[in-house]
Amino acid sequence: MQRGANDFLGTIGETIARNRPYIERARRFGALGLAPLGVLAAACGTIFVPLPWNVLLGVLVFGAAFVVHRMHEANRKIFVARQVAHGLLAIAEDCLKLLSLEGRIMCISEVGGQLIEADHADDLIGVDWLALWDGPDARRAFERAKAGESTSFSGACRTMNGTLKWWTSTFAPVYGEHGRVSAVLCKSRDITAERNLIDELRGNARVQKDMEDHVDAVFWTATRDFRELLHVSSAFERMWEMPMSALEADQTAWSQSVHPEDLPALRDEMRTAVNTGAATQSYFRLCLQHDRTRWVRADIYPVIEDGAVSRVVSVCVDATDERERLQELHRLANTDSLTGLANRNAMMDALVKRCEALAPFAYLFIDIDRFKSINDTAGHIAGDAVLRTIARRIAETLPDGAVAARPGGDEFTVILPGSFDQESIERACRKLSLACHRPIEIDCKSVTMTCSIGVALYPEHGRTPEALFISADMAMYAAKRAGRNTFRVFGDREKDDLARAHLEAQLHGAIREKEFVLHYQPQYRVDSGALVGVEALLRWNHPQLGLLGPGAFVPVLEESALIVEAGHWVIREAVQAGSQLALALPQACSVALNVSPKQFRDPRLVSVLRHAIRRAGIDSNRITLEITESALIDNVDDAQVVLSNVRAMGVRIAIDDFGTGYSSLSYLARFRPDVLKLDKSFVDNIATDAMVRTVVEGVIDLAHKLGVTVVAEGVETQEQLDTLRDVRCDKVQGFLLSRPVLLASLMMRTDAEDAATVR
Ligand code: C2E
Ligand code: MG
Ligand code: MG
Repeated sequence: MQRGANDFLGTIGETIARNRPYIERARRFGALGLAPLGVLAAACGTIFVPLPWNVLLGVLVFGAAFVVHRMHEANRKIFVARQVAHGLLAIAEDCLKLLSLEGRIMCISEVGGQLIEADHADDLIGVDWLALWDGPDARRAFERAKAGESTSFSGACRTMNGTLKWWTSTFAPVYGEHGRVSAVLCKSRDITAERNLIDELRGNARVQKDMEDHVDAVFWTATRDFRELLHVSSAFERMWEMPMSALEADQTAWSQSVHPEDLPALRDEMRTAVNTGAATQSYFRLCLQHDRTRWVRADIYPVIEDGAVSRVVSVCVDATDERERLQELHRLANTDSLTGLANRNAMMDALVKRCEALAPFAYLFIDIDRFKSINDTAGHIAGDAVLRTIARRIAETLPDGAVAARPGGDEFTVILPGSFDQESIERACRKLSLACHRPIEIDCKSVTMTCSIGVALYPEHGRTPEALFISADMAMYAAKRAGRNTFRVFGDREKDDLARAHLEAQLHGAIREKEFVLHYQPQYRVDSGALVGVEALLRWNHPQLGLLGPGAFVPVLEESALIVEAGHWVIREAVQAGSQLALALPQACSVALNVSPKQFRDPRLVSVLRHAIRRAGIDSNRITLEITESALIDNVDDAQVVLSNVRAMGVRIAIDDFGTGYSSLSYLARFRPDVLKLDKSFVDNIATDAMVRTVVEGVIDLAHKLGVTVVAEGVETQEQLDTLRDVRCDKVQGFLLSRPVLLASLMMRTDAEDAATVR
């Protein structure tokens, strides 16, 4: 306030100083104007008036001139001062006024008139300014100004329109003659707007304080790096059970009560809020006295100013009830209601966590042997009691850190942490078996149960929960197969089964995705060397493993029903290829295709074949079906029906791999095939083993007598070929002559090339 008054007075002084040259010039002009006048008067006196009167007259005139000059100078000063004052009044933004010693307005600035809401500033001249104010403050300050002090005060008074306005008034005494205070200069600044704002803020602060004091939530604000807490509401003391003074002494004191397991996640959320500019939420526990814990939910909001996070505000509420309810719900959702063990969900979660931890553990699948009989003979209530007892015993046997679950029915699963060798896993399984095996009392009767346990080890038998689950399940079935009441660790056999199951799943897609392809191996006449036919051989263009031969997947196809579908595809494809081949290489008259035993029994075989032949427009006697002996003798009567239907179409029949199965020559007579394919195992030894050569020679003779053509397969050496020629074999097929190839490359072969192949 004092500073405001000084500024004001300084401004007046400065204005006067700026006008000093004009004042000086006026003073000098007055003196210069009057001095000649006095000299002129004295000269006139000497001329017209005798001595000494003329001297006296001159002195008098000079004296009068001096007085007039002084008066003129004084008036000039007042004029200038008035001009300065008017100038100041005109430019001032506040209400500037000159008050008489009685407190009446002597003059007031235009702006002052407007601020006091008078129609015209002059209307206020003579108004008792002190009477406008309630209370003694205005008068007290005014009296001190009159006493020569520069003072100020703040207060409210009404304007001419009755509006209540707040003002800060500064007084400066104005000195008159003899250095006495003759008036008081007053500058009043309208501070109503600031005052209202302060009142409003005070009101807000009060509301905020009321809220903070009465709402059981902690409101806090911190700098964006969380280093400085800018504000923490009083509920902190209640929630943290820590005095505010502790927080004032150490700004990080709040974090010391947060559960060490929860603190990293909380800090992460705090950082995320700042880094992303989005609100986050975090739950954490407060560790209170007497081992009590309180759950707190913190909502963290970043405050964004000028496009950047300037600070962070947060609300913390007690979430203990909420968490307990959630935990209860979670417990119910993850617990098997019958046994109190973990359920399937919980076990899956536990498995996921264990796999993520990358530490070794064993996963056990326990199935109660013949549990169904308890349910059937003693009823479900007794069955439930047995399950409860076994569950309790399993739980009792387990070491710390192990998890036991009942995924359903009479199955239990267990996670045993740690690495296991054969001995330690046997020990663990025996303990569990014994726990199941102890007699259980139900309705005064004693029952004894056994269990079969399958074990999968992480990571050897699976790195994912699903893989471990399958491995343990397969091992458990192996234990069942081994006679029950035992355990098995997942092994090579189960591994093969698993690979087979995996392959089977992939084979389903293979047909759909057109991943099968046929290669054709040429067959040649031994005498002329002419290419007379081909055998279609199935391949699988596996997306990951590359081109696979039938040995890798046909057995799997045969085990599943897929062989029928795949077989239909082979028939259509091979028959179609046969018609193309007949056009390109008319001498390569026949196409042989392999039919599996299951496919041979498929009632649709004949119709699929007929349809394919008709569509391809090929002579049916150019098609040969290769069937193994086993397919024929599995069900001789049915086989004969199919054979006669096929033969009725004109399609030829070959017995494949002759010599590996029953090789009963009587079947030759019974089934009357068109072709007999001598197995590679005979061909392999025909050039080196005289006995084999004799047997083959006999078979070929017999076949010829029955009108059956003989094809030797797997011919790899010239000696084999020569021997086969010697024993009058009709046709040959083998790597010596050609490997199985794609149809396109086969069709590019010339007759000359073919003749050259068989020497
Ligand atoms: P397979 O019908 O006896 O076919 C002859 C097998 O011997 C073919 O094996 C052929 O590549 C192979 N081979 C031919 N010459 C030689 C040789 O000189 N040396 C050696 N080491 N092997 C030779 P591939 O293609 O692996 O077929 C194996 C078996 O898979 C076939 O024996 C057949 O039983 C079955 N197969 C092939 N294609 C099909 C099909 O489309 N359907 C069914 N159900 N089975 C098929
Ligand atoms: Mg074959
Ligand atoms: Mg064969």
